[in-house]
Amino acid sequence: MQPVISVRGLTKTYASGHQALKGIDLDIGRGEILALLGPNGAGKTTLIGAICGIVRPTSGTATVDGHDIVRDYRAARSRIGLVPQELTTDAFETVWATVKFSRGLFGRPPDPAYLEKVLRALSLWDKRDSRIMALSGGMKRRVLIAKALAHEPEILFLDEPTAGVDVELRHDMWNIVRGLRERGTTIILTTHYIEEAEEMADRIGVIHRGELVLVEEKAALMRKLGSKRLTLQLQ
Ligand code: ATP
Repeated sequence: MQPVISVRGLTKTYASGHQALKGIDLDIGRGEILALLGPNGAGKTTLIGAICGIVRPTSGTATVDGHDIVRDYRAARSRIGLVPQELTTDAFETVWATVKFSRGLFGRPPDPAYLEKVLRALSLWDKRDSRIMALSGGMKRRVLIAKALAHEPEILFLDEPTAGVDVELRHDMWNIVRGLRERGTTIILTTHYIEEAEEMADRIGVIHRGELVLVEEKAALMRKLGSKRLTLQLQ
């Protein structure tokens, strides 16, 4: 299987001297859901940032569909959608204007039918004329996903999509992610919760102090963990 994302020997040392990534090797297959599990400060966001071209690696490479994220940023970037942890959108804009603008940023021709499909899939269609500020927290999270999907990326990164959300929204998020996968999107998400990784992922990678200490098929990992899973404290 040709991986859609390939990471080799990736390290990141911040200006502070902190080594956040210590040589990550990772392949991600087209259409799979990979959950990156790890406690606060493990390096999950740094790894996502480096693959998306936001964090410049100290050494090593990341390629997206064969395009090196540093040397061939534009080609690699256009294949990626990123849903960050924080709300990063204009509070005064409407939902529709937000997704339209995001699509335009990538030079994609307008395609209202595609954007409608995205908003419907996220139960946002009825809110298309609402201003972002007027939406509930859960709806705002959905807007971030719609915004990330507006330019039709093949790969979606979700950085802790359920951090700080209530149980109902967490289950909604799980369903949204599964729905996207059914449409063929490759998904990489980070989480602190093993049950969340178990719910959504095909494979689970565990990051600890900047190292990818294991990557396993979910079923195999769950078999290995057995009853220990219940007592595993990752936070
Ligand atoms: P969380 O679950 O809390 O989001 P994380 O696993 O995503 O954590 P990172 O945000 O990647 O972890 O941080 C990894 C380490 O790098 C942490 O010790 C963090 O303090 C440090 N770090 C992150 N960004 C920077 C930065 N811009 N400058 C210096 N250190 C940083």
